[in-house]
Amino acid sequence: MYLVKGGFYILQIMENHYVCPHCRGQLKVGEYIIFRIRNASRDKGLLLLHPEIGNYSSMKHPQFEFREGDRVDFFCPICFQSLGATIDENLVHVIMIDSKQKEHKIYFSRIAGERSTYQVSDEGVRETGEHSYRYTHFKLSDNLIQYLNT
Ligand SMILES: [Zn+2]
Repeated sequence: MYLVKGGFYILQIMENHYVCPHCRGQLKVGEYIIFRIRNASRDKGLLLLHPEIGNYSSMKHPQFEFREGDRVDFFCPICFQSLGATIDENLVHVIMIDSKQKEHKIYFSRIAGERSTYQVSDEGVRETGEHSYRYTHFKLSDNLIQYLNT
């Protein structure tokens, strides 16, 4: 909400959208991005992640468990394809579309408890999270970033 002179409020839609790189289905509903996940015991469940990059709050059913350090499998809840990044088996890949309709590749760790997120755009890479130093694929020069595959 933005306050406009004169006392009127307008709701400005500045939201980012998140889509599946396979089916382009919208992954964000309300305040969360929805993923179908599978834990180390191969139990399936749903995980909701906060859409703000660097905000690691998440929601899941309390009976669906995974432990710190587990590698959780992420799938698109619409087309069921794996969202595992091909560049690193520990990373998940989705596409973020910003309010200017510009696309960014988002990568984040699928190791439970690990905070590493990378936003890859034409302009370069933005790293977020205390463990982002662990993945070095993104230390390329900006010229090379455009050749980075999913
Ligand atoms: Zn999909």
